[in-house]
Amino acid sequence: MLKNSIVFLGTGGGRVVVFRQLRHSGGIWLNIGGENILIDPGPGSLIRIYERGLDTKDIDVIVVSHRHLDHSNDLNAVIEASTESTKKPLGLLVAPEDVVDGEDPILLKYLRKGLSQIQYLKPNWETDYQGIKIKGTVKHLHKGAETIGVEFHHDGKVVSYVPCGKFFEGMLEGYTEGADIMIFNTTFPEPKEGYYHLSVPDVEKMINRYKPKKAVLTHFSVAMLKSDPQKIATKLSRKVGIPVVSAYDGMKITF
Ligand SMILES: [Zn+2]
Ligand SMILES: [Zn+2]
Repeated sequence: MLKNSIVFLGTGGGRVVVFRQLRHSGGIWLNIGGENILIDPGPGSLIRIYERGLDTKDIDVIVVSHRHLDHSNDLNAVIEASTESTKKPLGLLVAPEDVVDGEDPILLKYLRKGLSQIQYLKPNWETDYQGIKIKGTVKHLHKGAETIGVEFHHDGKVVSYVPCGKFFEGMLEGYTEGADIMIFNTTFPEPKEGYYHLSVPDVEKMINRYKPKKAVLTHFSVAMLKSDPQKIATKLSRKVGIPVVSAYDGMKITF
């Protein structure tokens, strides 16, 4: 995997798109500073990794933003695969506490020995992995799951991941300005009352606030797919004056 690159294994979001696989849902494979980080391994992640010519044995870190199945379903399968059934533990799992521990965790207990290190993802938190700074940014408002934004910093490069959640003013603090890439889980074209997800106008506010060098929209619902994410990205790009792209399954970008 090319140093400082991102592959979108899946770009679907929301119940219908993910559970009917109108778009794939395997998460995001990030290489930063030579380390391979798998983010939000949703349903099919294991399949999509191999489909894209990647290999689970190369995974160094797994990050889960929250426990919903579209973000965590393949966590156990990928750990099993990447560690040869826990014989060769992978470096680090970063996830909110309710993914790892508590009443109803996603992580199977017997796979814990396949992880050299587990750290809880929390807001205003950071850790260092082989020179990569992994930061928990803001606690999002997202129903039924502790959800936290994540950033990756290495050698002046910054990639920000803004996972699912309903927009609130607090999201205009806590992420880094001028990131190389800022990825937004943009589920809806317009704000939708009662839904705990970001919409395009919310993303516009965040881009204007944080001025990333490039913004990527992903995690699309049926409503978003019907509105043509490509057109939305082009329009938004003109409005905010930075490149905005809508991700497609298998899309690869470098930074
Ligand atoms: Zn969710
Ligand atoms: Zn989601």
